[in-house]
Amino acid sequence: MHLIVCVKPVPKPGTVRVDPETHTLRRESAELILNPPDLYALEMAVELRERYGGKVSALMMGPPNAAPLLREAFTLGADEMVLLSDRAFAGSDTLATSYALSQGLRKLEPFDLVLMGKASVDGETAQVGPETAAWLGLPSLTQVTRIFREGDLFVAERLLDGYLEEVEFSGPAVLTVEPETVSLRPPSLKRLLAVREREPRVFSAEALGCDPEKLGLSGSPTQVLSVFSPETEKERLVLSGEPEEVVDQLVSLLRERGLI
Ligand SMILES: Cc1cc2nc3c(=O)[nH]c(=O)nc-3n(C[C@H](O)[C@H](O)[C@H](O)COP(=O)(O)OP(=O)(O)OC[C@H]3O[C@@H](n4cnc5c(N)ncnc54)[C@H](O)[C@@H]3O)c2cc1C
Repeated sequence: MHLIVCVKPVPKPGTVRVDPETHTLRRESAELILNPPDLYALEMAVELRERYGGKVSALMMGPPNAAPLLREAFTLGADEMVLLSDRAFAGSDTLATSYALSQGLRKLEPFDLVLMGKASVDGETAQVGPETAAWLGLPSLTQVTRIFREGDLFVAERLLDGYLEEVEFSGPAVLTVEPETVSLRPPSLKRLLAVREREPRVFSAEALGCDPEKLGLSGSPTQVLSVFSPETEKERLVLSGEPEEVVDQLVSLLRERGLI
């Protein structure tokens, strides 16, 4: 069984700056970490491999300085590390990102499952999983909490609004994994030693056979118009009187302001 986990490099909180002209994140200046929700996808894939055999590949689209994060994915259980890195990917929105990832996934075929985090902690659109599935013409399953095999089929549990849905499918498919549904483990000593001998495979846009029109800003139909911190105002109001009076005052104030 070949399981591919897409892991995104995200800026460590507090280390990122926004380009005032293009309104995009200046990731080159930020310290990078593995997108925390992707760790659950990786652990789920590692548990599947431990149960059914096979291999886990970690796939990342990112700048060359993100390569150490793939090595971290190796220490956490991945067998292969693949980095898609090219200037042509810069400025990609979710559509262009998912196109590049789908081209990377085609390069790694055959595979049984692609696992992704539920969303990134920086972009937070949760679009990349379903979009990648669409580029590949594969089924997409979001909010997966558990997965197991039944004969030749996979069964996935999905967390919906207060209930679980069980879905049976034959694979390959693209899944996004609900965070905190598996227990994360620390890296093993064996892998910490083995990673010293390992390097990620790196693919350029050309090596993936990408259509340049579908990458970067030209392949991105969405444009960031502005990025700003919302203005907030604080008002201090002291209500006085007997407790019943204060409650009445508070309720009418909240009603006046349309808050209840
Ligand atoms: C108009 C626009 C312009 C942008 N320009 C830039 C730019 O110039 N530079 C820039 O760095 N970003 C840019 N971005 C952000 C970039 O589009 C997103 O980082 C990227 O598309 C992923 O979207 P997301 O973070 O919402 O992922 P989500 O959809 O929330 O992520 C879901 C899952 O997809 C997988 N995934 C997502 N991205 C990757 C990845 N790169 N590698 C592996 N797995 C991944 C992970 O498993 C992740 O948990 C831009 C976004 C927009 C909308």
